[in-house]
Amino acid sequence: MLTELQLSLSGANFQTWFKGKTNVLSLDKNSVEIGCVSAYNKTWIEERYLGKLKEIVDRLTGRQNTLTFTVASANIPTPTRKKEAQEDSTVPLFEEEASSSLIETLENAHINQRYSFSNFIVGQSNQLAYAVSKAVVEEPYTRYNPLLIHGGVGVGKTHLLQALAQATVLRRPKAKVLYCSSETFTNDMVEAIQKRQTTHFREKYRGVEVFLVDDIQFIAGRESTQEEFFHTFNTLYGQGKQIILSCDKKPEELDSLQERLKNRFIGGMIAKIDSPDLELREAILLAKAKGSGIKIGLPIIRALAERLGPSIRELEGGLLRLAAVSNLTGRPIDAALVNKTVASEKRLQSPLNTVTESVASFFSLSPADLKRKGRNKELVFPRQVAMYLLRKGANLSFKDISKYFGGKDHTNALYSVSKVENMVNNNVEIRNLVEELTTKAFKS
Ligand code: ADP
Ligand code: MG
Repeated sequence: MLTELQLSLSGANFQTWFKGKTNVLSLDKNSVEIGCVSAYNKTWIEERYLGKLKEIVDRLTGRQNTLTFTVASANIPTPTRKKEAQEDSTVPLFEEEASSSLIETLENAHINQRYSFSNFIVGQSNQLAYAVSKAVVEEPYTRYNPLLIHGGVGVGKTHLLQALAQATVLRRPKAKVLYCSSETFTNDMVEAIQKRQTTHFREKYRGVEVFLVDDIQFIAGRESTQEEFFHTFNTLYGQGKQIILSCDKKPEELDSLQERLKNRFIGGMIAKIDSPDLELREAILLAKAKGSGIKIGLPIIRALAERLGPSIRELEGGLLRLAAVSNLTGRPIDAALVNKTVASEKRLQSPLNTVTESVASFFSLSPADLKRKGRNKELVFPRQVAMYLLRKGANLSFKDISKYFGGKDHTNALYSVSKVENMVNNNVEIRNLVEELTTKAFKS
Protein backbone atom coordinates (compact mmCIF):
# COMPACT_ATOMS: atom_id res chain seq x y z
CA MET A 1 0.00 0.00 0.00
CA LEU A 2 2.78 2.35 0.95
CA THR A 3 4.51 1.72 -2.31
CA GLU A 4 1.36 2.50 -4.22
CA LEU A 5 0.77 5.62 -2.19
CA GLN A 6 4.28 6.75 -2.78
CA LEU A 7 3.76 6.48 -6.49
CA SER A 8 0.67 8.58 -6.50
CA LEU A 9 1.38 11.22 -3.86
CA SER A 10 3.92 13.99 -3.87
CA GLY A 11 7.07 13.14 -1.95
CA ALA A 12 6.28 15.64 0.79
CA ASN A 13 2.74 14.37 1.38
CA PHE A 14 3.89 10.82 1.47
CA GLN A 15 6.64 11.60 3.97
CA THR A 16 4.42 13.73 6.16
CA TRP A 17 1.42 11.48 6.48
CA PHE A 18 2.33 7.93 5.67
CA LYS A 19 5.93 6.93 5.74
CA GLY A 20 6.76 5.54 9.18
CA LYS A 21 3.45 6.90 10.49
CA THR A 22 0.95 4.34 9.38
CA ASN A 23 0.71 0.62 9.08
CA VAL A 24 -1.80 -2.14 8.72
CA LEU A 25 -2.78 -3.47 12.13
CA SER A 26 -5.12 -6.17 10.97
CA LEU A 27 -6.54 -7.50 7.78
CA ASP A 28 -9.74 -9.50 7.97
CA LYS A 29 -12.15 -10.85 5.41
CA ASN A 30 -13.31 -7.44 4.37
CA SER A 31 -12.06 -5.05 6.91
CA VAL A 32 -8.69 -3.44 7.20
CA GLU A 33 -7.53 -1.69 10.33
CA ILE A 34 -4.95 0.98 9.80
CA GLY A 35 -2.80 2.24 12.64
CA CYS A 36 -1.90 5.92 12.73
CA VAL A 37 0.85 7.46 14.74
CA SER A 38 -1.27 10.24 16.28
CA ALA A 39 -4.82 11.49 16.49
CA TYR A 40 -3.91 14.35 14.25
CA ASN A 41 -2.43 12.03 11.68
CA LYS A 42 -5.53 9.81 11.86
CA THR A 43 -7.96 12.67 11.31
CA TRP A 44 -6.00 14.04 8.46
CA ILE A 45 -5.76 10.72 6.69
CA GLU A 46 -9.40 9.88 7.24
CA GLU A 47 -10.47 13.21 5.86
CA ARG A 48 -8.25 13.43 2.86
CA TYR A 49 -6.99 10.04 1.91
CA LEU A 50 -9.76 7.60 2.76
CA GLY A 51 -10.94 7.33 -0.83
CA LYS A 52 -7.50 6.79 -2.21
CA LEU A 53 -6.59 4.25 0.46
CA LYS A 54 -9.75 2.28 -0.10
CA GLU A 55 -9.16 2.22 -3.81
CA ILE A 56 -5.66 0.86 -3.31
CA VAL A 57 -6.64 -1.72 -0.69
CA ASP A 58 -9.56 -2.93 -2.78
CA ARG A 59 -7.38 -3.24 -5.81
CA LEU A 60 -4.60 -5.07 -3.99
CA THR A 61 -6.93 -7.49 -2.20
CA GLY A 62 -9.32 -7.86 -5.09
CA ARG A 63 -12.40 -7.26 -2.90
CA GLN A 64 -14.37 -4.48 -1.25
CA ASN A 65 -13.05 -3.54 2.18
CA THR A 66 -14.14 -1.41 5.07
CA LEU A 67 -11.32 0.70 6.39
CA THR A 68 -11.02 1.63 10.05
CA PHE A 69 -8.40 3.87 11.61
CA THR A 70 -6.89 3.56 15.08
CA VAL A 71 -4.34 5.62 16.93
CA ALA A 72 -1.67 3.07 17.64
CA SER A 73 1.61 4.83 17.99
CA ALA A 74 3.24 1.92 19.81
CA ASN A 75 2.82 -0.27 16.77
CA ILE A 76 4.27 2.12 14.28
CA PRO A 77 7.96 1.65 13.80
CA THR A 78 9.74 4.90 14.56
CA PRO A 79 11.84 5.87 11.60
CA THR A 80 15.50 5.65 12.48
CA ARG A 81 18.07 8.24 11.62
CA LYS A 82 19.31 6.06 8.81
CA LYS A 83 15.91 5.85 7.23
CA GLU A 84 15.57 9.58 7.34
CA ALA A 85 18.80 9.93 5.47
CA GLN A 86 17.51 7.51 2.89
CA GLU A 87 14.37 9.44 2.32
CA ASP A 88 16.27 12.00 0.37
CA SER A 89 18.55 9.62 -1.38
CA THR A 90 18.18 8.55 -4.96
CA VAL A 91 17.68 4.97 -3.87
CA PRO A 92 13.99 4.29 -4.10
CA LEU A 93 12.29 3.44 -0.89
CA PHE A 94 10.77 0.22 -2.05
CA GLU A 95 13.53 -1.94 -0.69
CA GLU A 96 12.29 -1.72 2.85
CA GLU A 97 8.72 -2.34 1.96
CA ALA A 98 8.81 -4.61 -1.02
CA SER A 99 7.91 -8.15 -0.13
CA SER A 100 10.21 -10.87 -1.31
CA SER A 101 7.78 -12.00 -3.98
CA LEU A 102 7.62 -8.49 -5.32
CA ILE A 103 11.38 -8.31 -5.42
CA GLU A 104 11.42 -11.58 -7.31
CA THR A 105 8.90 -10.25 -9.81
CA LEU A 106 11.00 -7.14 -10.32
CA GLU A 107 14.09 -9.25 -10.89
CA ASN A 108 12.35 -11.52 -13.35
CA ALA A 109 11.21 -8.49 -15.28
CA HIS A 110 14.84 -7.24 -15.30
CA ILE A 111 14.00 -4.16 -13.33
CA ASN A 112 16.65 -2.35 -11.37
CA GLN A 113 15.04 -0.65 -8.38
CA ARG A 114 17.56 2.16 -8.62
CA TYR A 115 15.55 3.76 -11.38
CA SER A 116 12.16 5.03 -10.35
CA PHE A 117 9.81 7.88 -11.14
CA SER A 118 10.45 9.32 -7.71
CA ASN A 119 14.10 10.00 -8.45
CA PHE A 120 13.58 11.10 -12.02
CA ILE A 121 13.83 14.85 -12.16
CA VAL A 122 11.56 16.55 -14.61
CA GLY A 123 12.41 19.59 -16.67
CA GLN A 124 11.40 20.97 -20.00
CA SER A 125 13.52 18.57 -21.98
CA ASN A 126 11.99 15.39 -20.58
CA GLN A 127 8.55 16.56 -19.53
CA LEU A 128 6.61 14.99 -22.35
CA ALA A 129 8.41 11.65 -22.16
CA TYR A 130 7.85 11.59 -18.41
CA ALA A 131 4.15 12.44 -18.63
CA VAL A 132 3.52 9.88 -21.33
CA SER A 133 5.39 7.19 -19.40
CA LYS A 134 3.26 7.85 -16.34
CA ALA A 135 0.14 7.75 -18.47
CA VAL A 136 1.15 4.33 -19.75
CA VAL A 137 1.40 3.10 -16.17
CA GLU A 138 -2.07 4.44 -15.46
CA GLU A 139 -3.63 3.25 -18.64
CA PRO A 140 -1.59 0.72 -20.56
CA TYR A 141 -2.50 -1.12 -23.79
CA THR A 142 -4.78 1.43 -25.35
CA ARG A 143 -3.66 4.95 -24.86
CA TYR A 144 -0.10 5.20 -26.15
CA ASN A 145 0.84 2.04 -27.97
CA PRO A 146 3.53 1.53 -29.03
CA LEU A 147 5.35 4.21 -27.12
CA LEU A 148 8.74 5.19 -28.44
CA ILE A 149 11.08 7.40 -26.45
CA HIS A 150 14.07 8.74 -28.27
CA GLY A 151 16.96 11.00 -27.39
CA GLY A 152 20.74 11.19 -27.27
CA VAL A 153 23.17 9.40 -25.03
CA GLY A 154 22.66 9.73 -21.29
CA VAL A 155 19.48 11.81 -21.33
CA GLY A 156 17.50 9.33 -19.25
CA LYS A 157 15.87 6.88 -21.64
CA THR A 158 16.86 3.80 -19.71
CA HIS A 159 15.91 5.43 -16.42
CA LEU A 160 12.45 6.25 -17.72
CA LEU A 161 11.83 2.83 -19.24
CA GLN A 162 12.92 1.19 -16.01
CA ALA A 163 10.75 3.50 -13.93
CA LEU A 164 7.79 2.75 -16.15
CA ALA A 165 8.39 -0.97 -15.82
CA GLN A 166 8.80 -0.74 -12.08
CA ALA A 167 5.69 1.31 -11.54
CA THR A 168 3.73 -1.09 -13.72
CA VAL A 169 4.83 -4.07 -11.65
CA LEU A 170 3.89 -2.26 -8.45
CA ARG A 171 0.59 -1.14 -9.80
CA ARG A 172 -0.26 -4.42 -11.48
CA PRO A 173 1.64 -7.20 -9.77
CA LYS A 174 -0.06 -9.80 -11.94
CA ALA A 175 0.81 -8.26 -15.30
CA LYS A 176 3.73 -9.89 -17.06
CA VAL A 177 6.28 -7.16 -17.52
CA LEU A 178 9.57 -7.66 -19.30
CA TYR A 179 12.35 -5.16 -19.86
CA CYS A 180 15.26 -5.99 -22.11
CA SER A 181 17.78 -4.25 -24.27
CA SER A 182 17.61 -5.02 -27.95
CA GLU A 183 21.00 -6.66 -27.55
CA THR A 184 19.64 -9.08 -24.98
CA PHE A 185 16.82 -9.86 -27.36
CA THR A 186 19.34 -10.54 -30.12
CA ASN A 187 21.59 -12.67 -27.94
CA ASP A 188 18.67 -14.68 -26.61
CA MET A 189 17.53 -15.31 -30.12
CA VAL A 190 20.95 -16.43 -31.34
CA GLU A 191 21.27 -18.73 -28.37
CA ALA A 192 17.82 -20.15 -28.92
CA ILE A 193 18.66 -20.94 -32.51
CA GLN A 194 21.91 -22.60 -31.51
CA LYS A 195 20.23 -24.70 -28.87
CA ARG A 196 17.19 -25.36 -31.03
CA GLN A 197 14.91 -23.76 -28.48
CA THR A 198 13.16 -21.22 -30.63
CA THR A 199 9.77 -22.31 -29.35
CA HIS A 200 10.87 -21.53 -25.84
CA PHE A 201 12.25 -18.17 -26.97
CA ARG A 202 8.97 -17.28 -28.64
CA GLU A 203 6.93 -18.33 -25.66
CA LYS A 204 9.03 -16.09 -23.47
CA TYR A 205 8.81 -12.97 -25.56
CA ARG A 206 5.37 -13.41 -26.99
CA GLY A 207 3.77 -14.17 -23.64
CA VAL A 208 4.55 -10.76 -22.22
CA GLU A 209 1.91 -8.13 -21.48
CA VAL A 210 4.06 -5.05 -21.06
CA PHE A 211 7.18 -5.31 -23.19
CA LEU A 212 9.95 -2.74 -22.95
CA VAL A 213 12.89 -2.82 -25.34
CA ASP A 214 15.74 -0.42 -24.71
CA ASP A 215 18.09 0.84 -27.40
CA ILE A 216 16.18 -0.59 -30.30
CA GLN A 217 18.71 1.00 -32.68
CA PHE A 218 20.98 -2.00 -32.21
CA ILE A 219 18.75 -4.29 -34.20
CA ALA A 220 19.14 -2.10 -37.27
CA GLY A 221 21.21 -3.89 -39.86
CA ARG A 222 20.64 -7.35 -38.34
CA GLU A 223 18.26 -9.03 -40.69
CA SER A 224 17.21 -12.11 -38.78
CA THR A 225 16.82 -10.20 -35.53
CA GLN A 226 14.61 -7.69 -37.26
CA GLU A 227 12.59 -10.51 -38.76
CA GLU A 228 12.03 -12.10 -35.36
CA PHE A 229 11.37 -8.78 -33.69
CA PHE A 230 8.83 -7.88 -36.34
CA HIS A 231 6.85 -11.02 -35.57
CA THR A 232 7.19 -10.55 -31.82
CA PHE A 233 5.96 -7.01 -32.20
CA ASN A 234 3.02 -8.02 -34.35
CA THR A 235 1.98 -10.84 -32.07
CA LEU A 236 2.05 -8.67 -28.98
CA TYR A 237 0.48 -5.68 -30.64
CA GLY A 238 -2.21 -7.85 -32.21
CA GLN A 239 -3.15 -9.14 -28.79
CA GLY A 240 -3.39 -5.64 -27.42
CA LYS A 241 -0.24 -5.84 -25.33
CA GLN A 242 1.71 -2.73 -24.44
CA ILE A 243 5.02 -2.11 -26.22
CA ILE A 244 7.53 0.53 -25.15
CA LEU A 245 10.73 1.20 -27.03
CA SER A 246 13.68 3.49 -26.70
CA CYS A 247 16.00 4.58 -29.44
CA ASP A 248 18.96 6.91 -29.70
CA LYS A 249 17.45 8.71 -32.65
CA LYS A 250 14.24 9.06 -34.58
CA PRO A 251 13.35 5.73 -36.19
CA GLU A 252 13.24 7.45 -39.56
CA GLU A 253 16.91 8.20 -39.16
CA LEU A 254 17.94 4.61 -38.55
CA ASP A 255 19.42 3.85 -41.93
CA SER A 256 19.47 0.13 -41.87
CA LEU A 257 16.21 -0.43 -40.08
CA GLN A 258 13.67 -2.28 -42.20
CA GLU A 259 10.89 -0.08 -43.53
CA ARG A 260 8.17 -2.25 -42.07
CA LEU A 261 9.66 -1.87 -38.61
CA LYS A 262 10.07 1.87 -39.02
CA ASN A 263 6.40 2.05 -39.90
CA ARG A 264 5.45 0.06 -36.84
CA PHE A 265 7.60 2.18 -34.55
CA ILE A 266 6.29 5.48 -35.76
CA GLY A 267 2.72 4.24 -35.73
CA GLY A 268 2.22 5.03 -32.05
CA MET A 269 3.24 7.71 -29.64
CA ILE A 270 6.68 9.24 -30.01
CA ALA A 271 8.25 11.34 -27.28
CA LYS A 272 11.64 12.92 -27.54
CA ILE A 273 13.94 13.66 -24.64
CA ASP A 274 16.08 16.65 -25.45
CA SER A 275 19.42 17.42 -23.91
CA PRO A 276 18.86 18.82 -20.41
CA ASP A 277 18.99 22.60 -20.16
CA LEU A 278 21.00 24.39 -17.51
CA GLU A 279 18.18 24.43 -14.93
CA LEU A 280 17.57 20.73 -15.19
CA ARG A 281 21.29 19.99 -15.03
CA GLU A 282 21.48 22.03 -11.84
CA ALA A 283 18.46 20.35 -10.34
CA ILE A 284 19.85 16.93 -11.10
CA LEU A 285 23.26 17.76 -9.65
CA LEU A 286 21.62 19.13 -6.56
CA ALA A 287 19.52 16.02 -6.09
CA LYS A 288 22.43 13.68 -6.69
CA ALA A 289 24.66 15.61 -4.31
CA LYS A 290 22.01 15.54 -1.65
CA GLY A 291 21.34 11.88 -2.23
CA SER A 292 24.98 10.92 -1.90
CA GLY A 293 25.59 13.21 1.05
CA ILE A 294 28.01 15.39 -0.89
CA LYS A 295 28.35 18.85 0.63
CA ILE A 296 28.48 21.35 -2.17
CA GLY A 297 27.40 24.96 -2.50
CA LEU A 298 24.99 26.31 -5.04
CA PRO A 299 27.57 28.37 -6.95
CA ILE A 300 29.67 25.27 -7.44
CA ILE A 301 26.64 23.31 -8.60
CA ARG A 302 26.08 26.06 -11.10
CA ALA A 303 29.67 25.99 -12.32
CA LEU A 304 29.49 22.23 -12.72
CA ALA A 305 26.21 22.37 -14.58
CA GLU A 306 27.70 24.85 -16.98
CA ARG A 307 30.63 22.64 -17.74
CA LEU A 308 29.19 19.17 -17.73
CA GLY A 309 26.64 17.68 -20.00
CA PRO A 310 24.66 17.27 -22.11
CA SER A 311 24.71 13.67 -20.94
CA ILE A 312 23.30 13.25 -17.44
CA ARG A 313 25.64 10.33 -16.97
CA GLU A 314 28.47 12.80 -17.45
CA LEU A 315 26.94 15.09 -14.83
CA GLU A 316 26.85 12.28 -12.30
CA GLY A 317 30.36 11.21 -13.18
CA GLY A 318 31.73 14.72 -12.77
CA LEU A 319 30.09 15.19 -9.42
CA LEU A 320 31.32 11.86 -8.08
CA ARG A 321 34.83 12.52 -9.34
CA LEU A 322 34.81 15.86 -7.60
CA ALA A 323 33.58 14.34 -4.35
CA ALA A 324 36.16 11.58 -4.53
CA VAL A 325 39.04 13.99 -5.04
CA SER A 326 37.78 16.17 -2.22
CA ASN A 327 37.50 13.15 0.06
CA LEU A 328 40.94 11.85 -0.75
CA THR A 329 42.78 15.12 -0.51
CA GLY A 330 40.72 16.71 2.24
CA ARG A 331 40.23 19.79 0.08
CA PRO A 332 36.83 21.49 0.14
CA ILE A 333 34.71 21.40 -2.99
CA ASP A 334 35.29 24.87 -4.35
CA ALA A 335 35.90 26.59 -7.66
CA ALA A 336 39.58 25.72 -7.66
CA LEU A 337 38.86 22.06 -7.23
CA VAL A 338 36.27 22.18 -9.99
CA ASN A 339 38.84 23.73 -12.30
CA LYS A 340 41.31 21.06 -11.46
CA THR A 341 39.02 18.05 -11.65
CA VAL A 342 36.54 18.84 -14.33
CA ALA A 343 38.19 19.62 -17.61
CA SER A 344 35.89 21.87 -19.49
CA GLU A 345 36.66 23.03 -22.99
CA LYS A 346 37.28 19.82 -24.84
CA ARG A 347 34.25 17.90 -23.68
CA LEU A 348 31.91 20.73 -24.48
CA GLN A 349 33.12 20.96 -28.03
CA SER A 350 30.82 19.59 -30.61
CA PRO A 351 32.07 16.60 -32.58
CA LEU A 352 31.32 18.68 -35.65
CA ASN A 353 34.31 20.81 -34.81
CA THR A 354 36.65 18.21 -33.40
CA VAL A 355 36.08 15.66 -36.16
CA THR A 356 36.36 18.22 -38.92
CA GLU A 357 39.54 19.53 -37.39
CA SER A 358 41.22 16.19 -37.16
CA VAL A 359 40.19 15.17 -40.67
CA ALA A 360 41.35 18.49 -42.09
CA SER A 361 44.70 18.32 -40.36
CA PHE A 362 45.18 14.75 -41.52
CA PHE A 363 44.86 15.90 -45.13
CA SER A 364 46.86 19.05 -44.45
CA LEU A 365 43.83 21.23 -44.98
CA SER A 366 42.01 23.67 -42.77
CA PRO A 367 38.49 23.07 -41.43
CA ALA A 368 37.32 25.99 -43.55
CA ASP A 369 38.62 24.20 -46.66
CA LEU A 370 36.35 21.28 -45.92
CA LYS A 371 33.37 23.55 -45.64
CA ARG A 372 34.16 25.37 -48.84
CA LYS A 373 31.73 24.85 -51.70
CA GLY A 374 32.92 23.21 -54.86
CA ARG A 375 33.77 19.88 -56.33
CA ASN A 376 37.50 20.14 -56.15
CA LYS A 377 38.64 16.53 -55.93
CA GLU A 378 41.18 17.21 -53.22
CA LEU A 379 38.45 18.54 -50.99
CA VAL A 380 35.57 16.27 -51.86
CA PHE A 381 36.99 13.06 -50.46
CA PRO A 382 38.16 14.50 -47.12
CA ARG A 383 34.79 16.19 -46.74
CA GLN A 384 32.97 12.95 -47.41
CA VAL A 385 35.15 11.11 -44.93
CA ALA A 386 34.44 13.76 -42.29
CA MET A 387 30.72 13.29 -42.88
CA TYR A 388 31.11 9.54 -42.63
CA LEU A 389 32.89 9.83 -39.29
CA LEU A 390 30.33 12.26 -37.94
CA ARG A 391 27.60 9.86 -38.85
CA LYS A 392 29.19 6.60 -37.77
CA GLY A 393 31.24 7.82 -34.86
CA ALA A 394 29.18 10.65 -33.45
CA ASN A 395 25.72 9.53 -34.54
CA LEU A 396 24.74 12.93 -35.84
CA SER A 397 21.75 13.17 -38.12
CA PHE A 398 22.23 13.49 -41.87
CA LYS A 399 20.47 16.79 -41.73
CA ASP A 400 22.80 18.28 -39.10
CA ILE A 401 25.84 17.05 -40.94
CA SER A 402 24.67 18.41 -44.28
CA LYS A 403 23.85 21.74 -42.75
CA TYR A 404 27.22 22.04 -41.13
CA PHE A 405 28.85 21.66 -44.52
CA GLY A 406 26.51 24.18 -46.09
CA GLY A 407 23.97 21.75 -47.56
CA LYS A 408 20.26 22.45 -47.66
CA ASP A 409 18.82 19.14 -46.58
CA HIS A 410 19.98 15.68 -45.59
CA THR A 411 20.72 14.40 -49.11
CA ASN A 412 24.26 15.63 -49.35
CA ALA A 413 25.39 13.84 -46.19
CA LEU A 414 23.34 10.76 -47.00
CA TYR A 415 25.03 10.47 -50.36
CA SER A 416 28.52 11.09 -48.98
CA VAL A 417 28.17 8.63 -46.14
CA SER A 418 26.92 5.83 -48.34
CA LYS A 419 29.66 6.55 -50.84
CA VAL A 420 32.38 6.26 -48.20
CA GLU A 421 30.67 3.23 -46.72
CA ASN A 422 30.92 1.52 -50.10
CA MET A 423 34.56 2.40 -50.41
CA VAL A 424 35.27 1.15 -46.91
CA ASN A 425 33.59 -2.14 -47.71
CA ASN A 426 35.41 -2.64 -50.99
CA ASN A 427 38.81 -1.09 -50.54
CA VAL A 428 41.24 -2.21 -47.88
CA GLU A 429 43.36 0.89 -48.14
CA ILE A 430 40.44 3.18 -47.57
CA ARG A 431 39.21 1.01 -44.74
CA ASN A 432 42.59 1.35 -43.03
CA LEU A 433 42.66 5.04 -43.62
CA VAL A 434 39.19 5.51 -42.17
CA GLU A 435 40.12 3.39 -39.17
CA GLU A 436 43.18 5.50 -38.55
CA LEU A 437 41.15 8.65 -38.83
CA THR A 438 38.51 7.30 -36.49
CA THR A 439 41.15 6.72 -33.86
CA LYS A 440 42.51 10.19 -34.35
CA ALA A 441 39.15 11.90 -34.25
CA PHE A 442 37.52 10.11 -31.36
CA LYS A 443 40.09 8.59 -29.10
CA SER A 444 42.25 11.60 -28.46
P1 ADP B 1 20.18 6.89 -21.62
O1 ADP B 1 19.56 5.54 -21.46
O2 ADP B 1 19.31 7.88 -22.29
O3 ADP B 1 21.54 6.82 -22.26
P2 ADP B 1 20.20 6.80 -18.74
O4 ADP B 1 18.76 6.57 -18.49
O5 ADP B 1 21.10 5.63 -18.60
O6 ADP B 1 20.42 7.48 -20.15
O7 ADP B 1 20.67 8.00 -17.78
C1 ADP B 1 22.03 8.22 -17.44
C2 ADP B 1 22.13 8.51 -15.97
O8 ADP B 1 21.52 9.74 -15.69
C3 ADP B 1 21.46 7.47 -15.11
O9 ADP B 1 22.22 7.27 -13.95
C4 ADP B 1 20.13 8.10 -14.76
O10 ADP B 1 19.66 7.67 -13.51
C5 ADP B 1 20.48 9.57 -14.73
N1 ADP B 1 19.35 10.40 -15.16
C6 ADP B 1 18.93 10.62 -16.41
N2 ADP B 1 17.90 11.46 -16.45
C7 ADP B 1 17.63 11.78 -15.16
C8 ADP B 1 16.66 12.63 -14.53
N3 ADP B 1 15.76 13.31 -15.25
N4 ADP B 1 16.69 12.73 -13.18
C9 ADP B 1 17.61 12.05 -12.47
N5 ADP B 1 18.54 11.26 -13.00
C10 ADP B 1 18.57 11.11 -14.33
MG1 MG C 1 20.19 3.70 -22.04
